[in-house]
Order: sequence, then C-alpha cells, then structure tokens
Amino acid sequence: MSRLHVWPFRRRAPVPAITELARAPGTVEVRVGTSMWSSIIAHVEDTSRGEEGAFLFSGYACIAGNDVMLVRDWWPIPESAVVGRNRAFGLEWSAEFSSRVLKHAVDSNAGIVLVHSHHQSQRPELSPDDVATARNLLPKFSRITGMPCGSVVTGAKTSMGWFWKRGRRAADLTQIRLVGSPITYWRSAPPSDVLPAPKRRHDRTRRAIGPRAETQLALSSVAVIGLCGGGSHMCQQLAHFGVGRIIPVDGDLVEDSNLGRMIGSTPTDIGKPKTDVMVRLINFIDPGIRVDPVGDYFASPEVLAALKTADIVVSCVDRFSVRADINAFCRRYHLPLVDIGLVIKTKDERLVRADGQLTVVIPDTACLRCGPLLSDAVLDRERRERPAGYDRNPYAEGDPQVVSMNGTLASEAANMVLDLITGYSGGRRQAGWWQYNGREGSMTLSARPVPRRGDCPACAEQGHGDPL
Ligand SMILES: [Zn+2]
Ligand SMILES: [Zn+2]
Repeated sequence: MSRLHVWPFRRRAPVPAITELARAPGTVEVRVGTSMWSSIIAHVEDTSRGEEGAFLFSGYACIAGNDVMLVRDWWPIPESAVVGRNRAFGLEWSAEFSSRVLKHAVDSNAGIVLVHSHHQSQRPELSPDDVATARNLLPKFSRITGMPCGSVVTGAKTSMGWFWKRGRRAADLTQIRLVGSPITYWRSAPPSDVLPAPKRRHDRTRRAIGPRAETQLALSSVAVIGLCGGGSHMCQQLAHFGVGRIIPVDGDLVEDSNLGRMIGSTPTDIGKPKTDVMVRLINFIDPGIRVDPVGDYFASPEVLAALKTADIVVSCVDRFSVRADINAFCRRYHLPLVDIGLVIKTKDERLVRADGQLTVVIPDTACLRCGPLLSDAVLDRERRERPAGYDRNPYAEGDPQVVSMNGTLASEAANMVLDLITGYSGGRRQAGWWQYNGREGSMTLSARPVPRRGDCPACAEQGHGDPL
C-alpha cells in the first residue's frame, strides 16, 4: 500500500504557499442531479467513521466561456482503500485506488472531481493539506484524462474548489448547480451581478411566491422552442414573471393560419419571422428583459449554442422526432426540460378528443424517450406518415388546434417553470407527467412515475456535454 495520496495531507515536504496558486483565470460550474448530490453529501458529511471523501466522474461542456462539469456517476472512497484514518489528519487512501479512479475516468471520457466536506463552514477553503493532496493528484489526472479535474470542498450549502486543465491550475469553482425541482445552487460567493431593485410591477407575484422570487426570476434564462400555439403563451407569461433573459427559438415565418392561436401576432406580421413577434411581445410587456431570439430550427449550430446557455428549456414543438432530439440534448447538458403538446382529433368535422401532455424531465428522472410518448413505434410511425419537411409543405393540411386549450397547457407549463426557479410549491410539484383533456377540461398527474428505461438512447447521452 502506498501512502502517497494523503488527504488531508500530513505535511512531509514543504507545502507551497497557497497564495502562489490562489487565483486562476477561468471559472467552473459543477452541475449534478439533486438526488445524486444528496447521496454524495450524505456520504462526505458522515463522520461516524471519521473523514469521508468521494470522486465524481463528469462530462464536460464549455458554456459562454465557462467550464461546466456534468456529474454522471461517483465513487465513495471505500473502506477497503483507506490506509489511514485519524481525526487529527483526516483520510489517507491507497495509490491503487487513485489509479482505479483514473482508469474509470479515462475509460468513460470523464473529468474527475474530488469532493470532501468542511461541514457547516460558511466560507469553506481548501486547507494547506487539501491543496497538497490536490496538487499531487489533479494536475496528473487532468493531463491524462484531457478534462478539467478539481478538488471541491463543501460547507453549509456553499462550496469552493480549484481546477486544473492539462496539468495547470486553470479555473476556480463558482457554484455547484443542483438540477432538481427546484434548481438550487451551492455558491462560492453570492451572485456578483448587480441585483435588480424590486419593481412595483412584480409586487403581486412577490406577495404570492415570496420575497426572493423576483431576484431568482431576474437571474434566470429560459429558452422556448416553437413559438406558435404553446410557445407564444409561454413567452408572454415569462415576460410577466420578469424572467431576466428569454431565448425564443423558431425558424418559421408568420402565416395567416397562425393568427388564430399565436399570442401577440397581428395581420401585419404575416411573412415576418415568428421570433420578431416574440421579441416585440416580450419587450412591450417589459423592456428590461433581455431577449436573445434565434430564428432557426433545432438543431442548427446557432440554436444549440443558445440553448446551452439556458437554465431551463421549454419545448412546444409539433414533431415527435424533434422532441426526441431536444430531450437528448437536455440530457447531455443536465438541463431541465418542460415539454408540452396537444393533439386534437375530429370526426365529421367535430372535435372528439383534445389530448395534451405536460412532461417535466430533470436529470434524476426518466426522460421523454424512456416513456411511451416517444417510443420507437411512435417515432417510426411519424417518420412514415410525416417525413422531414412535411410541416413546411404549404399544401399539407394543418393540424387542428385551439388557442384556449394551448393556453391552458402552456399556463401549467409556466407554473412548472416558476416552480423550477423559485420552488414555490414546497416540493409538492415534482418532475413528472400530466395529461390534459381539453374536451372535458381536466389536468391529471400521472399516478405512476415512468420508470427509467435501461436501453434508453437519450439517457445513454446523459451528462456527456459537448461532443468530444
Ligand atoms: Zn479539507
Ligand atoms: Zn431516457
């Protein structure tokens, strides 16, 4: 057994002054599903046997110039690898275990994040021993994996950490983003942006949802894909919420047949991009909102680049195949997905069914492809009946839709976005699947959660981030 990798490290050689390495040019976010984080924290905060630590294995994405580590799985440092445990100096584990960690990371194209806890510390800092251990392991890990690798210490819902890239100290941890319902953050420092002053216009929402809601909404970015029946309602409500940044996405131009259900559209908009109408609608409601429209379809490079910068993706598209691609994309980046769709069936020109669904997917739950909505059979049938480009054929018969039913579904989806950002439901509203019956007027939460499918092709991409 080697005792090389000691953490926290017993001082054997002089440890370089921390200030030498203290500041790095880049920033890192660690992004992880809430329930996986709960198990990691339960392990590292368990002091019943002394100090504990964990290695996280993460995909990687570069988002707006920041490094994002997308946690896919984790290993506790097992009892069998521990070669010394002492309350005075913490935990030592074997070199053999460190090698197994490295091999697993290389085999699965993952970066490595070493996590331990300083318990209830308000401003945790890596101790000199933590730094020495990190310097022993992580530059080497980052060279061999080709991924950022770092050491993170947690406190009382706070965190800090140092990261290496290609052997060099390259970035500091800014936050751990826990992607659940709601999304929460363990930050290294409070958000540095100048916080907006409370606005009278949001007074009633603040009274309903709580004093922090306005700031949480103002700091959020929400992307809406598909800007007709459902998406236009969504953009309107996000604007009234005061969501700080809205990313409307659609490559279509407004047609006269859209005027019956596209909120904000007028006859003079015919022939204009749908994104133009949404920019105008949102900024009519609140000129302070930043709108970053993308007048293109999923998955053009511009659309993918914009979606990566969102905190939440709302999908209001017609085609199942596009839904499946958006679902896989959100899986890759640990992005919560709120999806709505409505199918109206008629007989003898009368409505007989108006079946809608609202599905919310977070990293810890089954995805759209795990469930029956996007089964292989559904996708195959669509491919046969509606080959690509079908809906852009001007002679194709349009699907029946009703603005008020789109609006009911979109409003429930907006509630879900509000809960993901503010947690207003107090945990009552989880990710899941709601069925809407527009004929009878009912919204029903599916009683049984959809199980994760072992062979789901979208789940296989989870946390893989940018293509290598
Ligand atoms: Zn420590
Ligand atoms: Zn899945």
